[in-house]
Amino acid sequence: MTAKILILPGDGIGPEIVAEAAKVLECLRQDHGLDATLDYGLLGGGAVDALGEPYPEATRRQARAADAILLGAVGGPQWEALDRPLRPERGLLAIRADLELFANLRPAMLYPQLASASSLKPDLVAGLDLLIVRELNGDLYFGQPRGIRTLDNGEREGFNTMCYRESEIERIARVAFAAARQRARRVCSVDKANVLETSELWREVVTRVAGEYPDVALSHQYVDNAAMQLVRAPKQFDVIVTGNLFGDILSDCASMLTGSIGLLPSASLDARGKGLYEPIHGSAPDIAGQGVANPLATILSAAMLLRHTLDKPEQAERIERAVGQVLDQGLRTLDIMADGMTPVGTQAMGDAVVAAL
Ligand code: NAD
Repeated sequence: MTAKILILPGDGIGPEIVAEAAKVLECLRQDHGLDATLDYGLLGGGAVDALGEPYPEATRRQARAADAILLGAVGGPQWEALDRPLRPERGLLAIRADLELFANLRPAMLYPQLASASSLKPDLVAGLDLLIVRELNGDLYFGQPRGIRTLDNGEREGFNTMCYRESEIERIARVAFAAARQRARRVCSVDKANVLETSELWREVVTRVAGEYPDVALSHQYVDNAAMQLVRAPKQFDVIVTGNLFGDILSDCASMLTGSIGLLPSASLDARGKGLYEPIHGSAPDIAGQGVANPLATILSAAMLLRHTLDKPEQAERIERAVGQVLDQGLRTLDIMADGMTPVGTQAMGDAVVAAL
């Protein structure tokens, strides 16, 4: 059946990097038998300008009808002064909530060609290949009540609610164990069970779910220790599963182990495997329109889309091999430049990947 892919270029460098990923998908469509249609829609600041909302009804309909979505990035200084509900980033939260995208998969793998770009010593990161599975629909980011209130003595107090239901923990744990089965069969669950009741339940439920996956080894770490271990000995991890807040922080930390934010893709999946795929970086307004952004994270997001939602692992590998080849050829955008190399622009990088395909 023909798969429907919705492309949301977004703001800033979004349209530039997405154009290169679309070229790659077009190439697979025309030359390698990918049966898919590509449709385009608006999300973020551009959607506010055109239709008055960051996640307009038209996009909602397109997103619900699509099998998978590829997003560039949203946001920029020109929309920062808007009321909160109109800010581009709200569009992102809205589409995640609307499509119930509860599982955020963030691989952090080091291309051997880029070992010197990591902030850690090369021997600590050589061969690094870890996957962070972050719960995306719960925790402090969505828990009620929340707000800023004024106390009897006139002082103001900010408050949020950390909460997880058993069913929410079970479903994210299953995603992590299933992912581990495709990898090195190790899951490390990260929590703060020594202090937080929410984490106490998290640990209990993850341990129970582990019983369904006897072939996968489960370990637990407190989040403070996990943060330390990520920069001390990151290769000890295969799959890390954690809640929304801890995952937000740890996944950004893990991304830097690989040297560049411009290289890492991500997936946000619902219970049926439908997903929104996007690079982990933002809209980079500082370099937007200059043709220098690295499109590889977005191109690799398209590979994840083919693997996780369209079940086309061979097409995904084709893209990943092509990216490896262009790095082997010494092609580098500015963010991953090393001494003695000549930088290429966004389009030239995309063209090189297509040529390698
Ligand atoms: P950012 O990720 O956009 O940029 C951080 C730094 O990394 C910048 O110096 C930028 O030039 C560089 N960079 C990012 N992507 C790059 C690429 N592909 N190639 C080369 N260099 C790249 O983060 P920020 O500056 O904190 O945020 C900018 C805007 O993006 C804000 O409006 C923010 O809200 C938004 N944002 C959106 C998303 C998303 O859409 N998922 C995620 C994070 C931030």
